[in-house]
Amino acid sequence: MRLLTGPAGSGKTYTVLQEFRQALRQSNRDARLLVPTTTMARFVRNLLAREGFVFPAEQVSTFSRFLEPFAPDVRAVSEPLLYLIVEQAAAEIARPEFARVAGMAGFSAALARTINEFSSAGCSAERLERHLPDTPLGEAFLAVYRAVERELAARGLCLRGERLERVGAAIKSPGAIWMDGFYSITDPELAIVTELARKAPMTVTLATAGVTQPARERLLRAGFREERLAYACPPPSATLVEAASIERECDEIARRIVEHATAGRDFRDMGIIVRAPEVYEGPLRAALERFGVPARFYFERPLLEVASAAYVAAAVEAALSGWDHERSLVWLRTAPNGTGAPLDWFDFEIRRNLPGRGLDPLFTYAAGNPNLLWLLDSAKTLDGWREGLATAAEWAERMDGAAGLYYAPRPREGATHEEALAWREQAKGLAAFRAAMGEAVACFLPAARIGLAEFWRAASAALRLSVVRVDDLRRNVVNVLTAYEARQWRLPVVFVCGLVEKQFPGYQTQNPFFPDAARRPLQQAGIRLRTTADMDEEEAFLFDSAVSRAAESLVLSYPKADSRGEQNLRSLLLDRLAPLAVECARTAIPRRAPAAAPRRNSPVSSPSMLERLAGKHAKLKPSALEFFVQCPFRFFASYTLRLKPVPPRPGERLDFAVKGTLMHQAVAEWSQSREDIDALFARLFEEAVRTHRIVPGHRTESARRAMLRDLRRFTADTQWPGGFDSSVELDFEAEIEPGLFLRGRIDRLDRTPDGRAYIIDYKYSRKDYSRNELHLQGPLYLLAAKHAFGLEPGGMFYCKLRDEVRYSGWSDDQAPLAGRPITAEWLENAAAVTRETAASIRAGRVEPAPADTDVCRYCDYRDVCRIESIQPAALSEGGRS
Ligand code: SF4
Repeated sequence: MRLLTGPAGSGKTYTVLQEFRQALRQSNRDARLLVPTTTMARFVRNLLAREGFVFPAEQVSTFSRFLEPFAPDVRAVSEPLLYLIVEQAAAEIARPEFARVAGMAGFSAALARTINEFSSAGCSAERLERHLPDTPLGEAFLAVYRAVERELAARGLCLRGERLERVGAAIKSPGAIWMDGFYSITDPELAIVTELARKAPMTVTLATAGVTQPARERLLRAGFREERLAYACPPPSATLVEAASIERECDEIARRIVEHATAGRDFRDMGIIVRAPEVYEGPLRAALERFGVPARFYFERPLLEVASAAYVAAAVEAALSGWDHERSLVWLRTAPNGTGAPLDWFDFEIRRNLPGRGLDPLFTYAAGNPNLLWLLDSAKTLDGWREGLATAAEWAERMDGAAGLYYAPRPREGATHEEALAWREQAKGLAAFRAAMGEAVACFLPAARIGLAEFWRAASAALRLSVVRVDDLRRNVVNVLTAYEARQWRLPVVFVCGLVEKQFPGYQTQNPFFPDAARRPLQQAGIRLRTTADMDEEEAFLFDSAVSRAAESLVLSYPKADSRGEQNLRSLLLDRLAPLAVECARTAIPRRAPAAAPRRNSPVSSPSMLERLAGKHAKLKPSALEFFVQCPFRFFASYTLRLKPVPPRPGERLDFAVKGTLMHQAVAEWSQSREDIDALFARLFEEAVRTHRIVPGHRTESARRAMLRDLRRFTADTQWPGGFDSSVELDFEAEIEPGLFLRGRIDRLDRTPDGRAYIIDYKYSRKDYSRNELHLQGPLYLLAAKHAFGLEPGGMFYCKLRDEVRYSGWSDDQAPLAGRPITAEWLENAAAVTRETAASIRAGRVEPAPADTDVCRYCDYRDVCRIESIQPAALSEGGRS
């Protein structure tokens, strides 16, 4: 009975492996090496196999797989089924304490998690009753726990703690056992370990850390003899990298991996350790793929994130909703590529007509498109299932058929390994979908006839709790591991990313049923439940373990800002290390795109395309020029490609643009007719409601009132004198210098008797446009008035309508309102900017280069311009370039 202890990297795993190797050399088929996870077991098996050892797989396994043969009749409840039983029990018991949250998925999941935690700690409902602390939800929790245990017993199932107890009674030791990589061993597990140790030689390793102390003390009490290992590995070279964003951080990791690979290092000698896979998986996959780095991700993926399962589940939910069009959109958006259906166009059509329900209107929108019609037709089977009853097994069988709705695109020739993995994931997703339906069947009495909605409630819970893992058997790949999985690995080069507060260390919340205050008395009663302080200690332990995985090079990294541009707080765990050399992430260019700039953003260069560009933009609008000055890509997407943003949701249809148009219409009409503004606006608003399908509601009414208030204020305002020769909504075309044409519409042009122009541009916004140097409208309108109508510049004013009436702009000495002086230099400067801008547009300049990065926050094209990979520094700290 040996207990090997020592800090991370002190040689515990090395010692265990050496001893286990010796057992294998002696052909000891009874020797067992037990590790905490399947991945670790596979890693050790592969390591030993590469060294030439041949042995049955069960000699290296997880603890729970090792226990399986000892009590084959003891069946532990699966996680999805436990959730469903908990949900049912909570509903039946109907405790008033849970009345407001019962039925919520998150509530049942938290209950199930806590029941599992108690059971794993060896605390059955009966034991909990004896030590129940004084806590508001304790009694209610206990009542559900008891009901769950009763239900499990009736089904011949048990929770983890009970299973371990029953296995312990039947355990036999096959031979010498080594247990490595565990840091917390629960009491029921300890009982088994002690029992095993009595029967055969046993070695357990534990890291020296606060989090392992309870297990250490118990093992020593059980008679284990402690051996402290003190080997200290030479420390690796360590660097801390700061990146502007998570994407830049992942690019930097990929760039460094490529550098190592180019210098001759195998990919398999490198690893990335991640604490928050849900945050890092997407950006890491994208960066590694772009840089051509083969990688294996040791992550489980929630089943409902796998496209095939998500598609079938979304189709059933859309059918259950009576083909509510919002739900149908969710289903259609998950349709696999390869159906050939023009989903964007169809999606926009549905959004424009929301709210809606039923398959028939969808068929109408899809008219004439055979692929869309086929897609809708394939879902008709589900339509008939809404009514009618069947047994759970029959529903599961029907769902099996529904899984066939997923149309898997044919693999293309020359597909990459990543694509092959993606297809295998889809196949696994459908298999897991069918397995989840099987879990749902177990929730109902075999002969009970139920409706689809009832069956689906259980089925969707099972789907939610299921995960998929796709095996990737390539050898020479970078290993991407969670901090838990990485505990037994040791690699020459290791990257530990995401070192920001709330990620690493993760954010710990108190258990809603048994907060820390209720856990302490339970701990005193010998029930080992973790408090948030224990969880914090575990985070520190995982960090220490992660940074000790590198043999030669350790790169720690974190993004300085999150996806919203908010500053991240660097992980306080970094203070556990000696001061590190800090480097900034470099602008990285993917290996697959070695050109100086990514192709996607290179200027348009084909002569025919340039000719078309010149033709399309022969006459430019001042607002379009401003778009270009703000960002060439924004102009390209908006004015050249004319990309349309997603139609707003019904509640958001009365948006900034619609309000602006409405206000302009009202001001223009009123300026000409002087009609009663209330009546005029009521008419225009009604028309806008019809045209834009604006839905009534509090938001709409409050916006309508605000606009009317602003219009009343404007019509009563006397700052701008009457009496001029006035035109509103005046279209113009002007050649402001040879070959440079402008076109557009002036909101209001007042002519003075001596041939001068006063221009007013109405703005329904809170901004002061006259202070923004990027705005060209002011001087360009005056130049247009001169060249189109022969009027000298007299004044140009922005008239702010929102919340107040305020004029600001430029004027000469005689203008009725004061403004900044109109100078020849100001006008010439605007003409020069226009000249240069027009030349750049016609030269095919399209790169994302925002003059003001604040605009990127609400720009419609931020998902396609990839500014972060091109100008990372531009967006850091939300600053302006
Ligand atoms: S998000 Fe920024 S960089 Fe991208 S197109 Fe819009 S303005 Fe340009």
